[in-house]
Amino acid sequence: MDVTRIIDLSHPIRTGMPVFPGDPHVRVSPAATVAADGVNVLGLEMGSQSGTHVDAPYHVNDDAPRLDGLDPGLFIGVGVIADVTGRDPRTPIEWPDLAPIADRLAPGRILLLRTGWDAHWGTDAYWDHPYLTAAATREVIARGVDVISLGIGDPDLPTPPFIVDAMHKAIDNPAHHQYPDYDGSLAFRQAACQFYQKRFGQTFDPKAEALALIGSKEGLAHIIWAYVDAGDVTLVPDPAYPVYKTHTLLAGGTPFLMPLTAENGFLPDLDAIPADVAARAKLLFLNYPNNPTGAVATLDFYKKAVAFAKQHDILIVSDNAYSEMTYDGYDAPSIFAVEGARDVAVEFWSLSKPFNMTGWRIAFVVGNAEAIAALGIIKTNTDSGQFTAVQEAAIAALTSPEADAFIAEMNEVYRKRRDLAVAGLRAIGLDARPMKGSFYLWVPVPKGHTSASFATLLLEEAGVVVTPGGAYGEHGEGYIRIALCLKEERLQEALGRMKQYVKV
Ligand code: PMP
Repeated sequence: MDVTRIIDLSHPIRTGMPVFPGDPHVRVSPAATVAADGVNVLGLEMGSQSGTHVDAPYHVNDDAPRLDGLDPGLFIGVGVIADVTGRDPRTPIEWPDLAPIADRLAPGRILLLRTGWDAHWGTDAYWDHPYLTAAATREVIARGVDVISLGIGDPDLPTPPFIVDAMHKAIDNPAHHQYPDYDGSLAFRQAACQFYQKRFGQTFDPKAEALALIGSKEGLAHIIWAYVDAGDVTLVPDPAYPVYKTHTLLAGGTPFLMPLTAENGFLPDLDAIPADVAARAKLLFLNYPNNPTGAVATLDFYKKAVAFAKQHDILIVSDNAYSEMTYDGYDAPSIFAVEGARDVAVEFWSLSKPFNMTGWRIAFVVGNAEAIAALGIIKTNTDSGQFTAVQEAAIAALTSPEADAFIAEMNEVYRKRRDLAVAGLRAIGLDARPMKGSFYLWVPVPKGHTSASFATLLLEEAGVVVTPGGAYGEHGEGYIRIALCLKEERLQEALGRMKQYVKV
């Protein structure tokens, strides 16, 4: 075969869509079709960061050629042919003449170009740089608009004094000025296990079944590197916190996306996973209370997930970052409430959200000893642990008698904001529903809008930033995410402006 073609894949394939040619569960895209024909396929993604993306082409089928044979000049060219940085979402891309670029392609290769507005959103969020919170917001702020952000999930209130005081003390201790223990100090791991015992009634061995993390994002990313080799599959919810998908792709794996929809309570349908996909899957990501949907999981669902993981020899990665942020008497469980879960699961728990500690970068993982050891190997070869003084402060957070009251106080703050926001959004005509967990509202956009067009309207007309649901995956399309990390007065102001300027 000796062909050079350029195919515009602006719409049909979303980056990271698993491509299993012939698999009826996956939408057939031109890429899959071409791959099924046995043609080499190389996918390149472009978006607002096309300059960096073209350095990192990825394969959409296992037989695709690596970069060898491709004209390196191409990569410069691709970055400029359709740079969509800052484009208005409503204007279509005007394609320049691609022939000169085609001429520079090595023979025998098919180049798939994917770009366009759809790619823009996907790409930005995909690499965790939500468009609206970056370029467009800056642009509106530059016009002198007092922009209010409901976009970022970062607690606005300070870390409480009982934690800050512990840090003050810890920082003076010269023993903490040296390299930390790779696995986390034993005292921190003991505190983490003590917390899990008290909170969830689950006992873990701090030496073998717990590991300190430099924030849970770090651990979630690295566990993928411990498990995923080229060609392996991970089972990733869609929509989801982007790290599960991005690191699977970076590690050369294929994320199989499990739709989270209102109809299924934003819980993945494990029965819908094809047998050959389950057979190739290494990790199953679950995150309840959920970012971005605010959904919570039932114990029955966790039971089903554990049985599924046992049947297919898959490790469950339970991301429990929001377990403490719950309302209306709801108590979020740990996956370890399921008998036998520790045979097949690890759970990530972060101090970031419950203790207003996002900047401190401290979290931990507990669970299956083999998985903890595997993650530890990646980490000892990558980082050198978290500053021991930060771990000391985290011990105060996890063990102090003041912790429970502090969390209850924060939850009351978020509950009030939630109720205010739900009432305000409903008054505008949006179908906002109060979530039981996390601090996110997942709100369907009005008819006639996409999540991007509605987010753009809110920014342009009301100076209010929300995150378009499409940023979290294809099934996030049709929603916006509202984060409740701002004072009530600002929230009131945002809702007031939305009511004034946005006609639903
Ligand atoms: N998991 C989820 C679902 C999140 O939303 C976040 C942060 N937004 C994290 C993990 C990472 O939190 P951290 O790294 O601060 O522990």
